[in-house]
Parts: sequence; C-alpha cells; structure tokens
Amino acid sequence: MRAHEVASVVVLDASGAQVLLVRDPATGSLRVPTTHVEGGERHEEAARRLLRDIGIGQAQVLDPRLGLSQDQYACLASETAVRHVDHCYAAAYPSDPAAWSPPRDSSVAWVDVATADAAGTPGTAALVRAGMRQLAAHGTPAPTEGR
Ligand SMILES: [Zn+2]
Repeated sequence: MRAHEVASVVVLDASGAQVLLVRDPATGSLRVPTTHVEGGERHEEAARRLLRDIGIGQAQVLDPRLGLSQDQYACLASETAVRHVDHCYAAAYPSDPAAWSPPRDSSVAWVDVATADAAGTPGTAALVRAGMRQLAAHGTPAPTEGR
C-alpha cells in the first residue's frame, strides 16, 4: 500500500516557554498537531494550512524542516495500519498564547514546555526540544508593527 504523506508542526510562542499540542481525549497524552498532505500540496503548504485551521495562521513556519519520521498506524483514510511519512516543521507564534482561543471541538492547547516533556510521548518531547533549538537559532520573530 502506498504510504501516506503527513505534515506536523511544533509551534512555540515567542518566549519559547509554551508549545501548542494536541491532547488525546482518551489517554491525556500530548502529541504534535499533524495533517495529511492533500492534493498537490507541498509539505510546507500543508503545515501552513494546518496552522490556519487551528487559528494561528500568523505563525511562521521555519525552514528547513525539523525532521522526517515514519510510523505505521490506521487513520481516517485507512482502517488498517498504513505507513505514514511525517515531515515535521517548527513554527514561531508571534502573538500572546493567552489571547488565543481554540477552534470548536478542538483538543489543541498551549502547554508549558516542561509539561510537554512530562506528558508527551518520548517522540513529542524530542520534537519540542528540537523545535526550541531551531527557534533559538533563528531568533524570535519581530513583533507586529503598529501594535
Ligand atoms: Zn493516513
């Protein structure tokens, strides 16, 4: 079976103290927001669409991507486990996470990076730390002018 291409994003706020993660309603575990790549999208475009869907389209997707990983799991498009190739990016959110409200029926939330370390899967914690390193190397995004 053909592998599914997905894009995921580690979104950090400007201070690098908070990260946007998805909480699994059943287990409470945290994971990085992920979306299937659709149509002829490039992976980075899928990552930006994902951020718009979450309501943080102003977040800046950093280049190059953080990493590439593969895993076998079932999804909405396949009842049986299928190989997923995940292109993970880091993104910098220039605004105050406290002023953000999640989309309806969404389980995404800003959490302290320390919480992500404790409650995330080992893979999630490693991605968050990699995202923090990339954000530090890029510098924080410039604040929006005129505010
Ligand atoms: Zn899939």
